[in-house]
Amino acid sequence: MAAPAPHQMTTCPYNKAHQVEHYRMHIHLQKCRKQHPNCNKMTCPFDTTHVVNDVELDYHISVCPKREMLDSQMYVIDNDHRPQVEVTAPTHVPCEENWEDSNVTSYQPDLAKKSHHIIMKVKGATPSERRKARMEAIKTYRGSEN
Ligand SMILES: [Zn+2]
Ligand SMILES: [Zn+2]
Repeated sequence: MAAPAPHQMTTCPYNKAHQVEHYRMHIHLQKCRKQHPNCNKMTCPFDTTHVVNDVELDYHISVCPKREMLDSQMYVIDNDHRPQVEVTAPTHVPCEENWEDSNVTSYQPDLAKKSHHIIMKVKGATPSERRKARMEAIKTYRGSEN
């Protein structure tokens, strides 16, 4: 899951009509985010100090500096540790703003799949890191369900 190339057109998580070059997406998101002040917040699965709107999590993960650290560890060990799926995917908490509800609902199933996948990948790190990442992920998902 390499990060998209800088000039690759990327779809804005807030509005599929927005196609933005990947290297400019963070600038674009600053504007779009203001139009969605009530989105649910998600914690980055790689670093709990990263808190982003849930619809942005997918984008954040593609640029998260911690992800690259975990990726490089994962490829060393992953074959010996086929992950067991112990964490269920989060139930979706849609944005409270529903004026763009169609965008949100059509996007989120994909986000769930990817989040799930990412948890499995995190487990490919060293055992203590896997446990820590799993606990953080569980906390995050429990938090988002409440
Ligand atoms: Zn946008
Ligand atoms: Zn992050």
